[in-house]
Amino acid sequence: MNYPIICYSCASPAEYKVAAEWSDGQTRELKTYALSCGACLAANFAKAKVKQARCRLLPGETLNVPRVFAMCRGTRDLKLERKPELEV
Ligand SMILES: [Zn+2]
Repeated sequence: MNYPIICYSCASPAEYKVAAEWSDGQTRELKTYALSCGACLAANFAKAKVKQARCRLLPGETLNVPRVFAMCRGTRDLKLERKPELEV
C-alpha cells in the first residue's frame, strides 16, 4: 500500500510519528497521536501529551507517555527509532 504520509497540522511530508506505547498486558502496540513535519513537531507533541493524559484506560491496560519517533516507511511501529532529543 502506497499512501502519502503527511503532517496532521500542515499537510507537509511527515518526518516524525508521535506515539505512545499501549499494552493490555498481552499485546503491545503504538497508539499514534500525530504524524508531523519538523516545523509542527513541538505543537503536535504538546497536543499528544494533553490527549494522552486524558485517555481513560480499562483495568489491565497501560499507556506510556508519548514519544517522538523518526518515520521510516515500511518499518514496523515497535522498531521505529526514538528521538528523545525532540521530546520537549
Ligand atoms: Zn507540519
